[in-house]
Amino acid sequence: MILTQCAVCATELGLTLGKKCGRCSTRYCGPECQVQHWKDGGHDTICKKIKKAGGAEQYNANNKYAEALAVAVAKCADDTKGQTCYICTQAVHWKTKEGLVRMCACRGTAGFAHVSCLAEQAKILVAEVEENNLGSKAFDDKWRRWEKCSLCEQDHHGVVASALGWACWKTYVSLPEANRCRRMAMTLLGIGLSAAEHDEDALSVKEAELAMERRLGAPEHQILVVQTNLAITYSNLGRLEEALQLERDVYNGSLSLLGEEDGDTLISANNYVGSLCDLKRFEEAKTLVRKLIPIARRVLGESNEVTLSMRRFHGMALYKDPGATIDDLHQAVTTLEELERTARRVLGGSHPATGGIEGALRESRAALVCDAMAAMAPPGDA
Ligand SMILES: [Zn+2]
Ligand SMILES: [Zn+2]
Ligand SMILES: [Zn+2]
Ligand SMILES: [Zn+2]
Repeated sequence: MILTQCAVCATELGLTLGKKCGRCSTRYCGPECQVQHWKDGGHDTICKKIKKAGGAEQYNANNKYAEALAVAVAKCADDTKGQTCYICTQAVHWKTKEGLVRMCACRGTAGFAHVSCLAEQAKILVAEVEENNLGSKAFDDKWRRWEKCSLCEQDHHGVVASALGWACWKTYVSLPEANRCRRMAMTLLGIGLSAAEHDEDALSVKEAELAMERRLGAPEHQILVVQTNLAITYSNLGRLEEALQLERDVYNGSLSLLGEEDGDTLISANNYVGSLCDLKRFEEAKTLVRKLIPIARRVLGESNEVTLSMRRFHGMALYKDPGATIDDLHQAVTTLEELERTARRVLGGSHPATGGIEGALRESRAALVCDAMAAMAPPGDA
């Protein structure tokens, strides 16, 4: 469950404390808050409605989905004007009346869709694999439809990822806790909330997820993945030391469990390097990232998002280091220029990673200019 607070006073209840409404499962810290909610909080009028929707978690998921969908459609409105959905071919969804979205690497007239259509498609494909017991490879393949565009094969990002996260959670939340889809939906929701920069919400989802996976006795690999996502949220919230510590643990754990060439190890390594840069530990970042980039290129490929991210951190560590030489600055600019072209081609100009690379490129050029000016300045009259 992700509702871990009292509905009245927001006291943190963890996963088990407090009381529940016997009818709709809304959670309270104790009888006082429950009574108050019924008398003054309007619970008497919505309790039946919540129960009918499937209980407090489902009701919350439905509402949050509706909010996230409205935000995503509004944010995409300029971009989607005059377009149609590639799945249902309509501009306005026949049933929900929602508008279109697009936040992936598709360009031109490609890739516009309704969140409802994307979700429905993913749900049907996943159900097919489940019914026919097609194995985990096929399952992972179909599950990707919840997170990646089927046309450009890149992640949906920003508020579209958040709307899809809620769509996915709302689809599977009522299943038993140990169900594979429900567990993966929780992961997807956490990632989607991070993509939309809802970091506090992402934190509570990811913490609940970690506690749940531990309780269900998940294998170590799974725990490492959840911790990786949690560390990203620490970092986004400015809790940099905690992020670094967790990332170091996850990286070391992945190294011994999966080896240095595993995709998940490389993801955790990349996050670790990012935190070293955040904390201005540039020497360590450079040493590690120089070791990692050749592996990432070989295993993941040149245009993989993790490879691109490692190279961006390398460029950043080069020009941000106060001890950077003129050669370091030149190397940073060259690296980031090449990276920007690759990111534009692979991820598209609207992807946040591309924006991050452009920002770093501007800064590295500025650092180079500053350095050249300092070298040209005449000696002062000492
Ligand atoms: Zn309370
Ligand atoms: Zn109730
Ligand atoms: Zn559609
Ligand atoms: Zn696309």
